[in-house]
Amino acid sequence: MAGTEHSQKSTGWAATDTSGILSPFHFSRRENGSDDVTIKILYCGVCHSDLHSVKNDWGFTNYPVVPGHEIVGLVTKTGSDVQKFKVGNRVGVGVIVGSCKTCDICQQDLENYCPRVIFTYNSRDRDGTRTYGGYSDIVVVDQHFVLRIPENLSSDTCAPLLCAGITVYSPMKYYGMAEPGKHLGVAGLGGLGHVAVKFGKAFGLKVTVISTSPKKESEAINKLGADSFLVSTDPAQLKAATGTMDFIIDTIAAVHPLAPLLGLLKMNGKLVTVGLPDKPLELPIFPLVLGRKLVGGSDIGGMKETQEMLDFCGKHNINADIELIHIDYINTAFERLAKSDVRYRFVIDVANSLAMFRAVAWGPVIDPTKGFIPLPLNESNLVIQWPYDLLQDQRYSFSHGVHKLWVFNTDKPHTPVSKTNPRTEIRIEGYNYSSGVWQFEAFGYIPCGTSGVCVMQVFGSSPPHATTLMLRVYNGSLTYYREPVIIPNVYDKWFRLNVIHDVEANKVEVYINGILRYEAPGRGGTYHYFKCGVYAQDDSSYYMESRWKGIRVLKKCD
Ligand code: NAP
Ligand code: ZN
Repeated sequence: MAGTEHSQKSTGWAATDTSGILSPFHFSRRENGSDDVTIKILYCGVCHSDLHSVKNDWGFTNYPVVPGHEIVGLVTKTGSDVQKFKVGNRVGVGVIVGSCKTCDICQQDLENYCPRVIFTYNSRDRDGTRTYGGYSDIVVVDQHFVLRIPENLSSDTCAPLLCAGITVYSPMKYYGMAEPGKHLGVAGLGGLGHVAVKFGKAFGLKVTVISTSPKKESEAINKLGADSFLVSTDPAQLKAATGTMDFIIDTIAAVHPLAPLLGLLKMNGKLVTVGLPDKPLELPIFPLVLGRKLVGGSDIGGMKETQEMLDFCGKHNINADIELIHIDYINTAFERLAKSDVRYRFVIDVANSLAMFRAVAWGPVIDPTKGFIPLPLNESNLVIQWPYDLLQDQRYSFSHGVHKLWVFNTDKPHTPVSKTNPRTEIRIEGYNYSSGVWQFEAFGYIPCGTSGVCVMQVFGSSPPHATTLMLRVYNGSLTYYREPVIIPNVYDKWFRLNVIHDVEANKVEVYINGILRYEAPGRGGTYHYFKCGVYAQDDSSYYMESRWKGIRVLKKCD
C-alpha cells in the first residue's frame, strides 16, 4: 500500500535507507475527506525524533520516510463536516494525526496514548497507506488533530511547540511540576530542554539547566532565563548541587547515566524522562528507595492539552529559539543535531525553499536510478590514488561510511612519473565500459573553501581530451569543467549526485538531488570509468577536500 496513488500530489524530502540522507521525493496525499483539512505547509521544526527515525535508531522505520511533526501552515481545503477551520486559517499539526477516538483513553483526551494512535509519519493511516510528515509541501489531516495557532505567535518560532512544547508541558502538568517556587532541573539543553526552561520560568519555578555543553551557559541564563547552570560532567558541580531539586525533566537524546540526576533530587523528588535513546538506560535502585524518589515517563500530549499549551504560549509569549534553514540544508542540520550543535531548534522554511527549489529545476524530481540495476561494489573496486610520497592515511580516511579525501595544491602527483596536478581520488575499478548506459551515484559534500578542483569525473574520451565529464567546484559553485555553473551554493551540505553516461546516445546527464541539472554531449573514447575525490585544477585553493558516501555504480537494464 506504500506506493498507493492518491489524488493530491505532494513533494517532500525523504530518507530512503539507514544512511539517513534525505533527498527530494514525490508522493501523493489522500483526497480531502469530509472531516479533513488540507494544509499548505509553511514551516516544519526538526525534532531529534526525526533524526532517530531516518537513522532507524529505534528499529521500526519504514523507508522511504518523510519526517517532520512540528508543522505550521495554512488551510487550503476543508471537508463538508469541518466547522472548526476555514480556508486561509493558520494551523498546526504535531506528532499525531489519528486515533480510534472511541476507547477509554481517547475519551479522556489522551489520544497520544491510544493503542491505535496514528503518527504523522512512519505510521499506517486509516486506509492502510503510509503517513508522510512535514518536510513536504502539503498535508491532509483529520480536523480533530489540527490545532489553532494563537495570533501573536510567529509561524516559524512556534512550530517547535507542536512537539517539543507539548512534550515538556504535559509531564510538567501531570507530575505536579508546575508549582511556583519549586526547583526544576532540565537535563539536556536542546529543542525540548530550552522550551522546558521557558515553561519552568512561566510557571514560577527556579530552573537549573543540567548540560554537557559548558558553552551554552551564558545563553541559558541571559537569554532563556534559567537561574543556574550545571555542567553534568563536572563531579564538583554535581556534588555541590546534591539533593537540591524537586523535579528533573530529562530530555537527553542519547544513553546516559541516571545516577547523577537522581542524586540531584531532594527526598520525594521526581525524575521524568522524555528523551528516547536507542538503548535502555540503567536504573540505580538504591537512591530511589532510600529517597522515596520516582522515575516516570511521558509521551507528547493529547489534542486538548496541546491546544491548551499553545494558548498558554500565546498568553505568555513563549516561542522557540530557532535557526531557520532551507530544505537543502537538512542533511547538514542532522549532522549538527547529532552533535548537540543547534540553538535550539532547526526550523525548515518549507514553503520558500521547496518553491525556490522547483523554480531552478530543469525538470521534475525523479529517481534517476529507476530502470537501472546496481552492480556489486566492494572495497577492491574502490582504488585510492594519493600523492606518491605520502602514506594513504595522510590524505584519505574512511569512517562511518564516509570517504574523506583531501589534497594540498603543493602536493606531489599520484605517481613519481606523472606530470599531472595533485590529486586524492577514488577510481572505480572493475567497471570499465565502452558501451551501454552507465550510472554513478553517490552523496557528496564539499567543505567551504575548496575551489579550483575536479570532484567527479567520467574518465576516457577521444584525444585531445582525457575525460568525458568533469564536475568541478569554483568558489562554491558546481560547474561543468570551468563553466557553466550547474548549481550554485554547494558548500557544506550533502547532495545526491547521479551521473548517467549513455555511450551510444553520446550523452551525459547530471542529476543533483533528483533533478536533471545538466546535459552534455559525450566526447568519444574507447573506454570509460568513474572517479570522485579531489583533483587540483587551475586556480586551485591551497587546501581541497571532498567527502563521499553511498557510492554506487549502476547499469541500465536491457
Ligand atoms: P536535541 O535538540 O538534540 O537535544 C537533546 C540534548 O541532549 C542535547 O542538546 C544535549 O544537551 C543533550 N545530549 C545529547 N547527547 C548527550 C549525551 N550523550 N549525554 C548527555 N547529554 C546529551 O533533541 P530534542 O529534539 O530536544 O529531543 C530530545 C529527545 O527527546 C530525543 O531522544 C527525542 O527523540 C525525544 N523526544 C521525545 C518525545 C516524547 O514524547 N517523549 C517527543 C519529542 C522528542 P546539552 O548540550 O545541554 O548536554
Ligand atoms: Zn518530535
